[in-house]
Amino acid sequence: MALQLDVVLTKEKKEKPDFTQLGFGQHFTDHMFIMDYSAEKGWYDPRIVPYAPVTLDPAAMVFHYGQAVFEGLKAYRTKDNRILLFRPEKNMQRLNTSNERISIPPVDEAFLLDALQKLIEVDQEWVPSAPGTSLYIRPFVFSTEPYLGVRASHSYKLLIILSPVGAYYGDGMKPVKIHVENKYVRAVRGGTGNAKTAGNYAASLKAQNEAKDLGYEQVLWLDGVEGKYIEEVGAMNVFFKVNGEIWTPALNGSILDGVTRNSVLQLLRHWGLPVYEKRISMEELYEAYTRGELEEVFGTGTAAVISPVGELSWNGNQLRIHEQQVGELTMKLYETLTGIQYGEVEDPFGWTVQVN
Ligand SMILES: *Cc1c(COP(=O)(O)O)cnc(C)c1O
Repeated sequence: MALQLDVVLTKEKKEKPDFTQLGFGQHFTDHMFIMDYSAEKGWYDPRIVPYAPVTLDPAAMVFHYGQAVFEGLKAYRTKDNRILLFRPEKNMQRLNTSNERISIPPVDEAFLLDALQKLIEVDQEWVPSAPGTSLYIRPFVFSTEPYLGVRASHSYKLLIILSPVGAYYGDGMKPVKIHVENKYVRAVRGGTGNAKTAGNYAASLKAQNEAKDLGYEQVLWLDGVEGKYIEEVGAMNVFFKVNGEIWTPALNGSILDGVTRNSVLQLLRHWGLPVYEKRISMEELYEAYTRGELEEVFGTGTAAVISPVGELSWNGNQLRIHEQQVGELTMKLYETLTGIQYGEVEDPFGWTVQVN
């Protein structure tokens, strides 16, 4: 049955924030997308409505058993005033991968992408235009059935909200200091590591806080079984340039399959560079470092796109990378990817999708 998208426009537009002081995830647009799921009807009643709070029963299962997943992507305004999405179909696919892992029914990816485009059109005044700014898009799904028995919920809501965000690198790209986490783990074999669940983030906050207290901006997670192999950084995948080769941890089920990671891999291969997706132990990386072969380290994710790493702290060892300056490859990847996203660099892979 074809879903019919309903649109109810707001009677009173909000006052826009100062677009030069946006920060991240603090301002929300005039409208949102919402649809419901019930076991009888499937996904139903998709609608774009004025942005507003959601009312839930206190027994709603999400509060108790945590069935909640999300996505994150961005819309970019080009110099000639087009609005572009970057590989949005990958986010819709991944939403269903996440759904599947925690027993949330799948959504129609093509329908959702159409609805997203419509939502952005309705709120297009909110897509900022200053360099580096964008409209962050947050689709999410959670269980709503009022029931305390432990099983998958029979009802859900899916929303998409939009938030204009500032340039990630307001005052230039600055390498971050990262704490290699040796006490807590993010994910385990057979767990939810490759799903974008709210629960994964809840489990990561304590380590993040402790690393902050030690003066580090992020944590690098090691595998949850042996505590030896590198997985990823906070909300980013991670890459290493070692003696001219580029290494990244292979997708093993506990690592999130990042759209930025996938795009970086494709670009590197397109440039003919030697790229390896493999199991990487911290020990092996440290040895490369002591030989002077660890040339660059960077994280990849939608928020920062590419985030240079200047220091890794591991078991009392401080690995200082590229004299804590941004590496050449790191910079080239950042400029190429953001160039494609803003429609300023040729898009040889057909990654961008125009909204308006
Ligand atoms: C979202 C996310 C990433 C990055 O994925 P992108 O699609 O590149 O934004 C990496 N790791 C985790 C744990 C994530 O949640």
